[in-house]
Parts: sequence; structure tokens; C-alpha cells
Amino acid sequence: MKRAIFPGTFDPFTIGHYSIVMRGLELFDEIVIGVGINQSKRTLFSVEKRLEIIRQAFIDEPRVKVMSYNSLTVDFAQLVDARFVLRGLRSVGDFEYERTIGDTNHILTGIETVILFTEARYAHISSTVARDLISYGKDITDFLPPNVKL
Ligand code: ADP
Repeated sequence: MKRAIFPGTFDPFTIGHYSIVMRGLELFDEIVIGVGINQSKRTLFSVEKRLEIIRQAFIDEPRVKVMSYNSLTVDFAQLVDARFVLRGLRSVGDFEYERTIGDTNHILTGIETVILFTEARYAHISSTVARDLISYGKDITDFLPPNVKL
């Protein structure tokens, strides 16, 4: 059984995140999406709302589980018995950040990070831009996974 976690803040979960998970299901038997609760990070959406959006997106996908966590990512991975961390990469900006965390996690526990490049059509999608649009009253349905309503 190959299980991966897909950790993130997901404030909110976008179609870019959704695409990474769907493609990850080709590689892994099960993916546990971990919604990180970081006390020092203010989020627009509550953890309950972030979980609800993700559950709506994967309602028909039994191989995807959704949980919140407030520990180190590697401890969350060990808790759910996952040997892989799935992450998505949009740009060189993402690369430096992902490499530092991936290296640290590997040194700490031997866990492997598996990175998928974003689909080009989603490269511009980010939770930050989605939140900006919301703050100006814009509709962000196109940024969300299929069948998700806020
Ligand atoms: P974090 O706060 O941990 O960076 P995010 O919710 O911003 O969490 O992102 C979680 C993961 O999803 C990261 O690996 C990020 O690079 C990836 N990701 C975010 N947006 C996209 C996108 N449009 N396409 C592919 N991957 C993405």
C-alpha cells in the first residue's frame, strides 16, 4: 500500500491543488490531504471550511482522505503511516522553498517528497490570488475544483 500525504494551508483549496491530487492518484494507492493548522498564520477560511471544501471536491473519490493537523509535517506523515509527501511546483520560486523543506524532511525521517509540475493551464492559480479576488468581491468559481461551491 503506497500512501502519500498532500500537506498545505489550502486557504482555499484550488483547482491547481485538485489537479495535483488527481494526478497523484496515478502514483499512490491513497492520498491523505493534510490541512495544516499553523497558529502564527492568519487564514481567511476557518479550518472547518477548508476541510469542507476539500471533502466536497473528493466526495466520489474513496482513495482520498482529508484531515487537519497541527504538528510537524513529518510527524503527521508518520501518524497516518505515509512514506511519501506529495507537493506541486509552479515556478522557480516554489522550487527553492520545496527543496529546503524536502531535504529537511528527508534528513529528519527518510521520507521522500514527490513533486509534480503544475499543469500549464493552472500555473497562475494560487490561494493568494483567490483570496485577493474574494476581497474585491469577485467570483472565484473558476479557481475552485469542479463541483465546489464556497
Ligand atoms: P503551503 O502553505 O504549504 O505552501 P499551499 O496550500 O500554498 O500550502 O500549497 C500546497 C501545495 O500545493 C504546494 O506544494 C504548492 O506548491 C502546491 N500548489 C499550489 N498551487 C498550485 C498550482 N496552481 N499548481 C500546482 N501546485 C500548486
